[in-house]
Amino acid sequence: MAEKVVIIGSGPAGWASAIYTSRAALEPLVFEGAQTEENRLQGTLPLGQLALTTEVENYPGFPAGDLSTYLTSSLPADKSYLADMHKKEGVSGPELMELMRKQALNFGTRVETDDIVDVDFDARPFKLTSLAGKEVEAHTIIIATGARANYLGLESESRFKNQGVSACAVCDGALPRFRNKPLIVVGGGDSAVEEADYLAKFASTVYLIHRRDELRASKIMAQRAIEHPKIEIVWNSVVDEVLGTDADGVTGARIKSTVDESTRELDASGFFVAIGHTPNTAFLKGKLEMNDKGYIRWTTAQRTYTSVEGVFAAGDVADDYYRQAITAAGTGCMAALDAERYLAAKGI
Ligand code: NAP
Repeated sequence: MAEKVVIIGSGPAGWASAIYTSRAALEPLVFEGAQTEENRLQGTLPLGQLALTTEVENYPGFPAGDLSTYLTSSLPADKSYLADMHKKEGVSGPELMELMRKQALNFGTRVETDDIVDVDFDARPFKLTSLAGKEVEAHTIIIATGARANYLGLESESRFKNQGVSACAVCDGALPRFRNKPLIVVGGGDSAVEEADYLAKFASTVYLIHRRDELRASKIMAQRAIEHPKIEIVWNSVVDEVLGTDADGVTGARIKSTVDESTRELDASGFFVAIGHTPNTAFLKGKLEMNDKGYIRWTTAQRTYTSVEGVFAAGDVADDYYRQAITAAGTGCMAALDAERYLAAKGI
């Protein structure tokens, strides 16, 4: 029998849509992604990008700080409703994702640890095929596959992947090879600054290589990096080649100035790339309307409708602008309500 709702993806958008559709008794089936080496290497394992981060400071509802002081200092006198509050120290990305997953499971969401690799949107119900060979039919589909980190595309960069080249400081930064050594981070956005800040806990020095003379990162994060004693920002520079040997992996990088033709070599045992993202939409190519960067196009303002009726998109896979956990969760909720109303209108 065809599923009422299949959700593809397991970041905040996927779990928010699962929480809403399961509470609406639509018994959603979530394909949360497969635990393959390929997914690990490209950063598309289950639980998405938040599972690759540390503290999440800006997701509402998880304040950091000692709550006992807060309890005696503000708002109504009777705060008994806060007495058992379990969160006092904010929340980490992986923890937040597990909490969302658990919340979806609590309402009867079913989960397959598998990827969807093919879709047939011409059939009704829709037909989906998984990496493990499972075939599923669905009346509605919510696509919440998110986006993944980009690489520079240098041959030397691919050569040393897993030997010092990484796009995830939080996953790999604590490895012994990076301890007390100089490390390189490429990029100038919030991700690059966050990675540099995180790596500075282990490294002797972190070189942050940026192609311009001004960071793109938010002011507060940029200032933190500029003032950090262990972070050295290498302005107006791009990477010409990642240097290394088969025996030692990465040993440094040759960088090139963007203002003149000069080059120089930096010693480093790690090379972390943080230069933006690509949406995970390859399996949908030619089947849904997308923008020129491959992000799914919402076809109606304030709705999660895609170019195929009954297929909805939520989170970063359809958002190259806000890209926040809270906006992903918000559009996940919207997609769930859109799917629910679509099913009701069709009498399914
Ligand atoms: P981003 O904001 O798009 O920044 C990408 C950076 O990489 C830019 O500085 C860009 O340089 C540089 N870049 C791109 N392609 C490059 C190339 N081929 N060679 C060298 N440099 C290259 O991406 P992001 O940092 O991943 O952030 C994405 C979104 O997530 C943003 O909205 C950000 O605010 C958000 N985010 C928030 C947090 C947080 O609040 N804690 C943490 C991480 C991310 P140019 O500046 O010259 O374009």
